[in-house]
Amino acid sequence: MKAVVISKPHQAAYSEQPRPQVDEGQVLVRVAAVGICMSDVEILEGTRPAPYVRYPVIPGHEWCGTIVEVGPGVVGLQAGERVAVEGHNFCGACFWCQRGQTNLCASYNEFGFTLPGGYAEYVAVRADLAHSFPDSLPFEVAALCEPAACAGHGLQRASVQPGDTVVVVGPGTVGLLGLAWARLFKAQRLVAVGLDRNNEALARTMGATDYLTVGEDPLSFVRDATEGRGADVVFEAAGSQAAVPLALGLARRGGTVVLAGISGGGQKVALESDLFCLNDLRLQGIFAYPSAVFVETLDRIAAGLLDVRPLISHTFPLEEYASAFELLCSRREPVGKILLKP
Ligand SMILES: [Zn+2]
Ligand SMILES: [Zn+2]
Repeated sequence: MKAVVISKPHQAAYSEQPRPQVDEGQVLVRVAAVGICMSDVEILEGTRPAPYVRYPVIPGHEWCGTIVEVGPGVVGLQAGERVAVEGHNFCGACFWCQRGQTNLCASYNEFGFTLPGGYAEYVAVRADLAHSFPDSLPFEVAALCEPAACAGHGLQRASVQPGDTVVVVGPGTVGLLGLAWARLFKAQRLVAVGLDRNNEALARTMGATDYLTVGEDPLSFVRDATEGRGADVVFEAAGSQAAVPLALGLARRGGTVVLAGISGGGQKVALESDLFCLNDLRLQGIFAYPSAVFVETLDRIAAGLLDVRPLISHTFPLEEYASAFELLCSRREPVGKILLKP
């Protein structure tokens, strides 16, 4: 089969690879569409933290396809079914897995990072990680389930109430999907805050009622829009340390701040030590998504409740992955989610 293999940092090739064998309890999935994530670029550039990647690797963790072969012992799945596959190949037995926090499994193992991922014609996966969806849902849309689940985990933790004011800091893929979730939870005012105006149109399509750049004093704007209170919920998906104090400052007393962005490099942020107590502030960090949230996200996308479709901006054949990476990094035109098709 054809696949993109990153053998080590700065060395990738579209090449012929052995088609994976299906073991007991596994299914073989023919990949239909795979989204490009910035973390795929990090694998290529060698900037991903060492415990979270194993070279050589076939990247791709935002993908779906059709089951073409079912291994021994698999029940409930058949060849021909369309499936989206969750990213974490969790153990199911550790302290966290037992509590349903499969995203925190003690033995990290993830498709596209430490296991062969979706930049390939075929991937063999454990059957319980493959979740079927109806034929009426296009593959391109189902491929967005993975990043949508990341955002969904955060917005669910925030307990958004109807009528809330929600601010999204960082309107990249996860931030934009956060807007879609906040809209689903019936937030009334949805403010997106970005570094520039590049994603404004996309943010508005995904549900933003207001769009500001960081230079436009978002703190004053949000306070003015909420009778001086601040936002009920702030969802940070910027992945820069400057976004953390901004997100905390935007929340009202008694509000909730969800931090989903990872800035990396062990950077430190200075915060007023009484900020949390005095403001009765709830701070929630999130890492990926538990299995149950992935399933719920797929169901909501399939039911048409969570509209992720506007996010798809480009589609490339898999062999043109290098041009797609270049487009994602240069952003010489507005870029939402770029998909690859094997
Ligand atoms: Zn990703
Ligand atoms: Zn585990």
